[in-house]
Amino acid sequence: MARTLITGGAGFVGSHLCDYMLAKGHEVVCMDNLITGNLDNIAHIKSAAFAFVEHNVSNYIDLDGPLDYILHFASPASPVDYLEHPIPTLKVGSLGTHNVLGLAKAKGAAMLLASTSEIYGDPLVHPQPESYWGNVNPVGPRGVYDEAKRFAEAITMAYHRFHGLDAKIVRIFNTYGPRMRLNDGRAIPNFLRQALEGEDLTVYGDGGQTRSFCYVSDLVEGVYRLLTSGENYPVNLGNPVEMTILEMAEKILRDTQSSGKLVFAPIPEDDPKLRRPDITRAKEILQWEPKVKLDEGLKATIDYFKKTMALS
Ligand code: UDP
Repeated sequence: MARTLITGGAGFVGSHLCDYMLAKGHEVVCMDNLITGNLDNIAHIKSAAFAFVEHNVSNYIDLDGPLDYILHFASPASPVDYLEHPIPTLKVGSLGTHNVLGLAKAKGAAMLLASTSEIYGDPLVHPQPESYWGNVNPVGPRGVYDEAKRFAEAITMAYHRFHGLDAKIVRIFNTYGPRMRLNDGRAIPNFLRQALEGEDLTVYGDGGQTRSFCYVSDLVEGVYRLLTSGENYPVNLGNPVEMTILEMAEKILRDTQSSGKLVFAPIPEDDPKLRRPDITRAKEILQWEPKVKLDEGLKATIDYFKKTMALS
């Protein structure tokens, strides 16, 4: 039985990865310090092949036994979260990634780093291929996340080149689905919560900025394919269907039949104006592309939000 460590395993994407790897027959160790993760996300897992360890990977990681794979997903990941936790965000991307790489090297495990479309910053090339180096403000409010992830990519490649570590880097574009935190501050959770409470939806700027939203099950499938591939250079994973934030807000109002309306609020500093992944490499190398349509994914997410809001 392969044994896999998932850092950030109690988070939104991490908890879906726990489910997926268990279903693939892996023994799973889920590690999280619960800064933005939540035990509710893994409470349904009853498997004897699953263990939870509460630990901050920015500190030395002591883990007994063999390891075959590490999925390194620990980090605050929403702009609101990393503005609230700037130093832990910088530390987990840098010190945390170093510790995870050290563990992978000691155990002879393959390691996959969760990187991000944020490494492209406010991009001057559209859509964004992996060969684009980005347009990042290192000292802006988003720099704590963007630069930590850029460092994480650099040290991961260094461990691959210098130590021969089997390392993979996935650049994750906007992802949504059940288990997103109601208050994580991102566009879809904010709009859903506001719409379901009959509040007005807060569109930042004029809403003309674009994003491309990928349903979480598609992302997780792509992550697994990359992990088990022979590829060591970064691969974008995301849904290339691009829309404006205004269109997303209007769609959520319609789909929830909300009585709320749209209100406009100031755009956050360095908010990227355009974002869409070029997924040519994922298609070629992993034979991967998203399957879940926005209507279907949003319906499952709305159902989750309704259930969770009824409980809280
Ligand atoms: N956004 C918005 N209203 C909100 C939350 C976000 O208009 O209540 C906008 C935000 O300014 C950005 C886009 O939606 O342009 C996506 O933001 P999110 O926080 O989801 O993630 P990002 O893609 O910026 O990392």
